[in-house]
Amino acid sequence: MQNTLNSICIVGGGTAGWMAASLLSSALSGSQIKITLIESPDIATIGVGESTVPSIMEFLRVCQINLKDFVQATSASFKLGIRFDDWQKPGEQFFHPFGAVGQNIHGFDFYQAWLKTVTDGNGTRWLEHSPGAVMAEHQRFMLRSPEQQHWVSRNYAYSLHFDAVLVARYLRQFSLSRGVERIEATVNKVVVDERQFISAVELNSGAAVAADFFIDCSGFNGLLIEGALKIGYEDWTHYLPCNRAVAVQTESTGELPPYTIATARECGWTWKIPLQHRTGNGYVFSSQYCSDDRAIDTLLKVVEGKRLNDPRVIPFTTGRRKKIWHNNCLALGLASGFLEPLESTAIHLVYKTLIRFISYFPDRDFEAHTEQSFNQKINGDYDEIRDFIILHYCTSGRQDTEFWRWCQTMPVPDSLREKIASFRERGQIDHHPEQFFSADSWCSILEGMKIRPKKYHPLMAAFDRQKLAQLLQESKHNIYQTVMQMPMHSDYIEQHCAVKKDDYV
Ligand SMILES: Cc1cc2nc3c(=O)[nH]c(=O)nc-3n(C[C@H](O)[C@H](O)[C@H](O)COP(=O)(O)OP(=O)(O)OC[C@H]3O[C@@H](n4cnc5c(N)ncnc54)[C@H](O)[C@@H]3O)c2cc1C
Repeated sequence: MQNTLNSICIVGGGTAGWMAASLLSSALSGSQIKITLIESPDIATIGVGESTVPSIMEFLRVCQINLKDFVQATSASFKLGIRFDDWQKPGEQFFHPFGAVGQNIHGFDFYQAWLKTVTDGNGTRWLEHSPGAVMAEHQRFMLRSPEQQHWVSRNYAYSLHFDAVLVARYLRQFSLSRGVERIEATVNKVVVDERQFISAVELNSGAAVAADFFIDCSGFNGLLIEGALKIGYEDWTHYLPCNRAVAVQTESTGELPPYTIATARECGWTWKIPLQHRTGNGYVFSSQYCSDDRAIDTLLKVVEGKRLNDPRVIPFTTGRRKKIWHNNCLALGLASGFLEPLESTAIHLVYKTLIRFISYFPDRDFEAHTEQSFNQKINGDYDEIRDFIILHYCTSGRQDTEFWRWCQTMPVPDSLREKIASFRERGQIDHHPEQFFSADSWCSILEGMKIRPKKYHPLMAAFDRQKLAQLLQESKHNIYQTVMQMPMHSDYIEQHCAVKKDDYV
C-alpha cells in the first residue's frame, strides 16, 4: 500500500535551501506534498559559492528556468573551465576545460592517439583539441543550439559564475511562485522522537513546524543532522589541509574572461571569479602554514579593482557527514560536508544529492535499504570529487614553500594512488558513467602537471604515423576555425543577457 509523504520542511534559505525548494517544487508538482522553507532573518548565508560546473544548466532545465533571465538576474557570466596558474611551478599555466577533448579514433580514446603523435614527435598541444579551451583562450562564447551539427559545436560545455545572494533571491521568488511556503523565523529547537526521527522544529516565534521529512540546509553547523541527530563527521583534513578562506569582492576591471582563475600561492591558492558587475576573489589556505593576517595581506596584494567590502575569513573542515540521509532527515549543502572549492563542486553536489534523493524518494515506511543505497551512491560522489581535488596537490611540482613541500609526500587515498599509477603506466583512466569527472578532465590535469605515461596503448602502434598526425592537425584546424567565428564572451552577454546597470548603482 502507498504511504506517501505529506510534507517536507527545508531548514535554511541559502543556495542549498532554495535549490532544494526550486527542484522539489518542480519535480513534485503533480503530488500533494507540501513544501515549507524556514528562512532565518538573523543568521546570514555564507554568501560565497559563485563558480559552478555544467550541471547547473541541467538544474535550470529541470526547473524550467529561463537561462537568459537567470543570467541577467544573477549578474552571471559564462564559464568554460578553470585556468590554473603557477600550479606545476611558478610561471606555468594550464586549463581544465569542460566538455570533450578530441574525438575517439577507431574506438580508441583520443588521448591514446594524441599520446602516440606526441611520442612520434608530431605533437600538437593537448588543449588545441578542446573546443572549450580554445574558446576560453580567445575569450569566445555562444550558447550551444540544437541546430549546430558540427562536432566542435556539440562538444563544448559551460556553466555559470553568479552572485550567490542574487541566486538565492531569484530561486526564492521562483519557489514561491511554485507554491512553496516560506516561514521567516529562526529554529530554536529540533524535536526528535524515541526512534531518532525528527518530529518538528520549534521557532523563535513560539510556533512549531511538523513534517514527514526534513532537509537540513542550515550550513556548516548542520542544525538537524549534527545538532539534533549527532550523526558524526568524517574529517578529511589529512588529505586536504586547507581549512580557511578569506574572501573579498572588487569592482569589475571591465574584463570578462569566460573562466575561473585558480592561482597557486605560497600556502594554498586564490580564486578570481568574474561576474558582470563585480569580481569575486578569495584565498584558500592552511592555517598550519599561514596566519589569517598573512592570508589577507596576500589576497589584497593580488586583487585588481577597487575593493567593495572588507575581507572576511571563513573557517571550514574538509569532510563529509557519516550519513547524509538518516531516518527522515537529509543533509544538503554545507550541512552535508565540504570539499574546498578548487573545482567549484559544492553546488554541483547539492544538485546531485537532490537528483539522487528524488530517485530514492522515500515514503513514510522509510525502508532502511533505500536510505542505505542512497548513502552509498552519494558517498561515491564525494569520494570521486575528493580524489580529483587531491590530484591537484599531490601532482604539483612546486617545492618552494613548506606547504608545497608537504604536498610532495602527502597521504593519498588508495583509490587515487591506483588511478595515477595506471595513468603513469600507459595513459589509462578508468571511468564509470556515473562519475562526474571524465577521463578528459583527469588527462587535462595530469598533462597540465606535466605527467606523461611511460607508453601508449599497445594497439596504437599499428596506426599509421603520418595519417594520425594529419588527422590531429585537421582536428586542431577545425576547432580553431569554428571558434574564431563565435562572438566574444563580453559581446555575447551584452547582446543577450546583460544586467540592467541601474540594478547595481
Ligand atoms: C570559501 C568558500 C568558497 C566556495 N566557493 C564555491 C564555489 O566556487 N562553487 C561552489 O559550487 N560552491 C562553493 N562554495 C560552497 C557554497 O558556498 C555552498 O555550497 C552553497 O552556498 C550552499 O550553502 P548552504 O545553503 O548550504 O549554506 P548557507 O549559505 O550558509 O545557508 C545556511 C542557511 O541556514 C540558515 N540557518 C542557519 N541556522 C538556522 C536556524 N537556527 N534557523 C533557521 N535558519 C538557519 C541561515 O540563515 C542560512 O539561510 C564555497 C564555500 C566556501 C566556504
